[in-house]
Amino acid sequence: MMDIGKRQKWVLVVFHVCVLVLSCSNCTAETPLASDFVVQRERMVREQIEARGIKSPKVLEALRKVERHRFVPKPYRLQAYIDYPLPIGEEQTISQPYIVALMTEALDLDSSSKVLEVGTGSGYQAAVLAEICNSVYTIEIIESLGKKAKALLTQLGYKNVHVKIGDGYKGWKAFSPFDGIIVTCAPTHIPKPLKEQLAEGGKMVIPVGGRQVQELVLLSKEKGRLIQRSIIPVRFVPMLKGNGGTY
Ligand code: SAH
Repeated sequence: MMDIGKRQKWVLVVFHVCVLVLSCSNCTAETPLASDFVVQRERMVREQIEARGIKSPKVLEALRKVERHRFVPKPYRLQAYIDYPLPIGEEQTISQPYIVALMTEALDLDSSSKVLEVGTGSGYQAAVLAEICNSVYTIEIIESLGKKAKALLTQLGYKNVHVKIGDGYKGWKAFSPFDGIIVTCAPTHIPKPLKEQLAEGGKMVIPVGGRQVQELVLLSKEKGRLIQRSIIPVRFVPMLKGNGGTY
């Protein structure tokens, strides 16, 4: 027979073991290890990106490298690698990983390319571009988002990304022409300044259409002429004007 003291001790030991097990499972749920994210990122690339036909080694390498969870607000971090867009505040979203890959591949960039992005948002797409290109110029119309993305990109060591707060419809003439232009918000028509700021031989990828659905369009500038083709139907947030309206 166990005496009362011994029994109490056992009860205490069992209690502590239970608390430990529970708190550990809880803590992995709330603060996953960096290695968990590495595993999730690899699965994202294999199951969402490669499986859907993205082949560019540069794009796949960039998606394997950039820590998407760093660009997602804390409450959504555990979902950072799922097959959906996620909220980033101010009614805006970080695009679905596959769409980021598809648009990046379509631009056919290399280490000498200079790229313009319209719609910095979280800064994730800019980081993916920065892994591939020489320099990235990105414009965000919502000041709080632009400032946050700029701080994060600096903290992560991206020296080749230049963030500007402003209206991307007008492009960024001072640094034009661009070898690639990527637009991650949707206007109803292709902005004329962006067509003009595209370099000869350059490519622009842009969602064009109404509120509910748009067509992802790829434009190539060849001998001064723009050749246009549609890629897939997509759904992006609208391109905003400075006065709160939309383009
Ligand atoms: N590329 C982003 C996703 C952006 S969502 C990422 O990787 O997270 C689209 C973004 O476009 C939003 O942040 C929105 O504020 C911005 N935007 C909308 N209209 C704009 C405009 N006229 N100029 C610049 N940015 C604009």
